[in-house]
Amino acid sequence: MPLLTIEDVSVSYGKVDAVRSVSLQVEEGQIVTVIGPNGAGKTTLMLATIGLLRSFGRMTFMGEDLSRLSVEDRIEKGLCLVPEKRELFAEMSVRDNLLLGAYTRYNRATINNELEAVYERFPRLKQRHKQDAGTLSGGERQMLALGRALMTKPKLLVLDEPSLGLAPLIVREIFHTVASLRELGVSVLLVEQNARAALETADVGYVLETGEIVQSGEASSLIHDPRLMAAYLGGH
Ligand code: ATP
Repeated sequence: MPLLTIEDVSVSYGKVDAVRSVSLQVEEGQIVTVIGPNGAGKTTLMLATIGLLRSFGRMTFMGEDLSRLSVEDRIEKGLCLVPEKRELFAEMSVRDNLLLGAYTRYNRATINNELEAVYERFPRLKQRHKQDAGTLSGGERQMLALGRALMTKPKLLVLDEPSLGLAPLIVREIFHTVASLRELGVSVLLVEQNARAALETADVGYVLETGEIVQSGEASSLIHDPRLMAAYLGGH
C-alpha cells in the first residue's frame, strides 16, 4: 500500500483552476519530486495535501481517507509540511523554534531525545542554539525548518522548494540532507523548480505544467530526457 495516494485531485482559486486532475503516489521510503515552472501549481498541490486548501478528488495517507482529517490530525499521523517561506519565528532562538516542532509531544525525555537527534544531524544548529532564528543565514534557516519538521517525527515530509534563494553549495548540502532522510525511514514529497538537484535526489519524478502532470517516471530516466533537459535542466 502506498504511503500517500493523490487521485484525480483538483484545486481552484475561484475561477482559476490551479491544479487539474492530478494523480501521484509516494511509496514508503521513497523520495518523490514534483518539478515544474513558476505558477505550475506546485505550492497549491502541497497546501491541498496537508489540508490548508480545499480540494476535489481523493487523497489517502496510510490507507486512510485524508478528506476527513484536519491539518492537526494529519500532522499527528505523520504528514508534515516544510513551507516555502520556512515560517520560522525570527525573534525566538534556534532551540525554541525546534521545541515548537515538538508541541504535539508531551514527554520531556522524548522531546530531549528528538532535540539531540536533530542537533546530531545539523551540528550547526547546535552551535547556534541560542541565536535568534531571524539572524541565521538562508541555508541555516532551511536546516532549522527541516529540523523543526523532524521534531514532529514525520512519516512523510512535504518540502516546498527547499533550495529557494540558496547558493549552489548550500543547495547541495540541503539535498544531501534530504537524501539522508531515507535512513530515518522518512519519505519525502519534494516540490522544486531546481529540477536537476531534485531529480538527482529523488527516486521518482512528476512534471507539473499549468496545473497538470505532463510526464512522470523514474528520476534517473527523467534527468536524461531531452525535452525535459531543454525545458528545465538548462540543456546540460
Ligand atoms: P512557484 O514556483 O512560483 O511558487 P507554483 O508552481 O508553486 O509556483 P502556485 O503558487 O501553486 O504555483 O500557483 C498556481 C496558480 O494559482 C498560479 O497561476 C497562481 O497565480 C494561482 N494562485 C496561487 N495562489 C492563488 C490565490 N490565493 N488566489 C488566486 N490565484 C492563486
